[in-house]
Amino acid sequence: MTRQKFFAGNWKLWGTQAEAKALIAALATGIQGSKHRILVAPPYTALAAVKQAVKGGPILVGAQDCSALESGARTGEISVGMLKELGVDVIILGHSERRQFHNETDKLVNDKLKLALKHGFEVIYCNGETLAEREAGKASEVVIRQTKEALAGLSEADLGRLTIAYEPVWAIGTGKTATPKDANDIHQVIRKTIAELYTKKAADAIIIQYGGSVKPDNVKELMAMSDIDGALVGGASLKADSFLAICTFDK
Ligand code: PEP
Repeated sequence: MTRQKFFAGNWKLWGTQAEAKALIAALATGIQGSKHRILVAPPYTALAAVKQAVKGGPILVGAQDCSALESGARTGEISVGMLKELGVDVIILGHSERRQFHNETDKLVNDKLKLALKHGFEVIYCNGETLAEREAGKASEVVIRQTKEALAGLSEADLGRLTIAYEPVWAIGTGKTATPKDANDIHQVIRKTIAELYTKKAADAIIIQYGGSVKPDNVKELMAMSDIDGALVGGASLKADSFLAICTFDK
């Protein structure tokens, strides 16, 4: 089955409004006519500026997280309603930095996922094992557990608005990339888990991105793998030339 490739740039803690506008302007021409889906996820404070800058073009806008509550006493958090008002298309959930530095559990990620889907968003759901878990031979086990917990309560129809990003924690921002084969093996494990939880049709259709030090010089071999359908990109998405080279790897 042919799946449309999906490239997402996670800007993390980078991007004033002025920087964001300049980066979108630099990306816009290069991305025109791309057959892939492209998304940028700036910090909350640049979402409105980015939404305005991408207007009329193909670039989707993502948020890097959302609150698990629709409203209430959660100082510093941003609700799904607020993101909707800004015209956000996709919410990234379960990123390993949220898990590591903000103690997010699979249960919390599942709550956020259900809330985001209920409010009509698409979601990029991230999972992946730590170095210790990989070295202990537990990569598959961890990713299966995370996938099952994240998807609890989701219908097969919900999966139509879900992308999974497999991001081995040890490869994020470290310059270390999983070998294309190692990454593809885990993507197949995730796809098999979806087939067991839902149907083979759902498993064949779901988009699974790889994330972890994706760069212009390794994107081609990763995208050549049977079950890798795009990438979630951190560092290399902050410069127009490197993100464009990734998004147009097959040109
Ligand atoms: C990420 O933050 O999701 C990521 C994959 O970062 P990097 O590309 O910098 O490893």
